[in-house]
Amino acid sequence: MAHYGRFLAVLLLGAAAFFAGCQQQGSNTYLRTPKAVRFQPVRTPLVQRSISRMAREVNIKVRIMPSNSRQRRGSRRLNPAFITIHSTANHSPSSTAMQHSRALCRGAFTNRSWHFTVDQFMCVQNLPLRESGWHAGTAAGNHNSIGIEMCECENRGHNHFRTWDRAAKLTAVLMKRYGISLRRVVPHYHWTRKNCPAPLLTNGKPGPKWAWFHSRVDYYYRCINQGKSSR
Ligand SMILES: [Zn+2]
Repeated sequence: MAHYGRFLAVLLLGAAAFFAGCQQQGSNTYLRTPKAVRFQPVRTPLVQRSISRMAREVNIKVRIMPSNSRQRRGSRRLNPAFITIHSTANHSPSSTAMQHSRALCRGAFTNRSWHFTVDQFMCVQNLPLRESGWHAGTAAGNHNSIGIEMCECENRGHNHFRTWDRAAKLTAVLMKRYGISLRRVVPHYHWTRKNCPAPLLTNGKPGPKWAWFHSRVDYYYRCINQGKSSR
């Protein structure tokens, strides 16, 4: 609960940044809402719950990067208009969400930072949501999107589906909190054409697997939004 309380406080701080930052959008074409992907809504009956209940299910720990770290010094305010999904492409058994977060906090990733790291068991918050990270590869992506890294660690009993499902729940919580529509939940590919998150792209581009992920996000969003979609 203590962790969740801190998470909420960080979310609320981020909300203030959202209203302050709404005017920042320029003419960058990437800031337009992307076209919809082919989409099959999840037919599973909705299990309605509150946004805080779903945030607890995500199991969010807070391990914020030191404020004097190179990536955070002079960081810009975040305008949370998009959510950018990544995957680590690191199959090492020990490359869990907590291990990635520890590495991030001790400065092991030069010039890279992001907001949340997710694996099949937990989610670790690494940056306050009022601050931009360095994850999208473009200034527009960094300053206007919340970055979520999904771990691809392959240890005993690993289950990528659970990681993607946890990331989908976290995404739904953030969409609801910041009023972000589903079409503004984008793969890293959206900003730089990078093949990321590779496990959810098809031949390096958004396709059926990305549509599947969107449908999971939409399902969880409807569970915390009285059944209404934001597509
Ligand atoms: Zn990426």
